[in-house]
Amino acid sequence: MDAKKMYYAAVSEKVLKHFERRGIEGHYFDNSKLLLDFLKELIPENSVVSWGGSMTLKETGTMDLLKSGKYKTIDRETADTPEKLNQIFRDALSSDYYFMSSSAITMDGKLLNIDGTGNRVAAICCGPSYVIVVAGMNKIATDEAAAMDRIKNYAAPINVMRLSKNTPCASTGRCEHCVSPGSICSHTVITRRSAVIGRIKVLLVGEDLGF
Ligand code: SF4
Repeated sequence: MDAKKMYYAAVSEKVLKHFERRGIEGHYFDNSKLLLDFLKELIPENSVVSWGGSMTLKETGTMDLLKSGKYKTIDRETADTPEKLNQIFRDALSSDYYFMSSSAITMDGKLLNIDGTGNRVAAICCGPSYVIVVAGMNKIATDEAAAMDRIKNYAAPINVMRLSKNTPCASTGRCEHCVSPGSICSHTVITRRSAVIGRIKVLLVGEDLGF
């Protein structure tokens, strides 16, 4: 095992213990293939599934699995009007399994998410029977302050560049605390426990995934 894998495995042990005391079910996988094997066992065929926008879900192959035909999908890409997209966001809240990543995760097991539309953070708070959070170990931050710094001064600027949004951080690479129409930072949610034990399942992968 290379040193980075050893580091990720060691850190994950600590994070998983903190998830447990917060009512969050946590698992660690050395790689995306093992993650997919787990998901194939976890999600019953014909379950209703939906998801929030995520590079991690694409990179791990989770999106391909969700669209493989085994499940009933609530897919935002089928919406061709703003009204239909809004209806899909509403319907997604009644899904059996809602998939997303997390903007950052603290060493002591808190999930930090910043969202432009709010559909992802709505789902993690309430609605879907289960929320499956898939995250690479690069999303782990020492504490809340480090997690916020990671999101605002790294992940968010890269995402607005990827999405060709016209926000200050797209030019500077740093958060300028904008409220511009293109801002992807409308809502900040810190999930510090799951009221329903095991409703939120965090699947950590020992790889660098997403931003
Ligand atoms: S608040 Fe605005 S400037 Fe700051 S990271 Fe979000 S989109 Fe960028």
